[in-house]
Amino acid sequence: MSARILDGKALAQELRAEAAAQIAELRTQIDRPPTIAVVQVGDDPAATRYVRSIDRLCQSLGAACRAIALPAETAQADLEATVATLSADDRIDGILLQLPLPAGLTLDGVLSRLAPEKDLDGIHPINAGLLAQGRPTLTPNTPAGGIELIQRYGIEIRGRRAAVVGRSAIVGRPMALLLLQADATVTICHSRTTDLGAVLRECDIIAAAAGRPGLITADMVKPGATVIDFGTNVLADGSMVGDVDFAAVAEVAGAITPVPGGTGPVTNVMLMRNLITATRTRLGI
Ligand code: NDP
Repeated sequence: MSARILDGKALAQELRAEAAAQIAELRTQIDRPPTIAVVQVGDDPAATRYVRSIDRLCQSLGAACRAIALPAETAQADLEATVATLSADDRIDGILLQLPLPAGLTLDGVLSRLAPEKDLDGIHPINAGLLAQGRPTLTPNTPAGGIELIQRYGIEIRGRRAAVVGRSAIVGRPMALLLLQADATVTICHSRTTDLGAVLRECDIIAAAAGRPGLITADMVKPGATVIDFGTNVLADGSMVGDVDFAAVAEVAGAITPVPGGTGPVTNVMLMRNLITATRTRLGI
């Protein structure tokens, strides 16, 4: 293997220490821990595990987490009322809504009741709009973590050609905008892109967020390119792989994130960074 491994676990540890220090400083300025409200509708086990992991992370960093569990049959109006109440609650600094919502509930109505300054996922149209205008504030955590990995490993983004595979509102699209913000020349690819390989071979940075195991093969990658793999695909044998054919691409790329252990571990810490930003911005400190 020739590529440098961009170790998300190691970076996450570093970022956690930084976040803990910032939260400790915040706690000297406010009389309580910065607090996240996590809203979960239904009892999907993966979502429940995720909420627990956020709670543990908050505790370990000196923040607080208030978990709000609503039954799967919650009415749209009740969910919206819960989010509106949390948005108005002065002791809640950030709100995280577990997605996807159960069938029958729509995100748009909920987002209209979410205070944009507490939107820790960066999915409120105001935050998405600010990012699109090049004025990022609260940005989606997964792509923010991808940028952090590239920058912390000292890889230049400015002036480089970059491609993002995937255009979802939560990963691909904001990743493209964050790369643009960092002065890359960016192409966004999706399921209708013709000849994906021809586009990717021109790029110095490839970010894969398609949710398709093995989509990015070695022949699509320019020698020396940086490859960021957001994909998390669980195979029939229970193992987890990304969108990139890791073993083969690692022979060609200059730097690559593994799956697991790449972008995943960084994502949650970026959530804490958004909590710190949200708390400071809202309280003007
Ligand atoms: P979505 O399913 O919402 O979006 C997938 C995107 O990939 C779409 O834009 C789709 O195109 C595009 N796509 C699908 N197939 C192809 C293809 N063959 N060629 C090119 N583009 C393709 O997924 P998400 O954005 O929510 O998630 C993407 C991946 O990232 C998933 O594996 C998910 O599990 C993972 N993820 C990882 C996180 C982390 O922390 N590492 C956090 C969140 C997600 P089109 O728009 O045309 O349909």
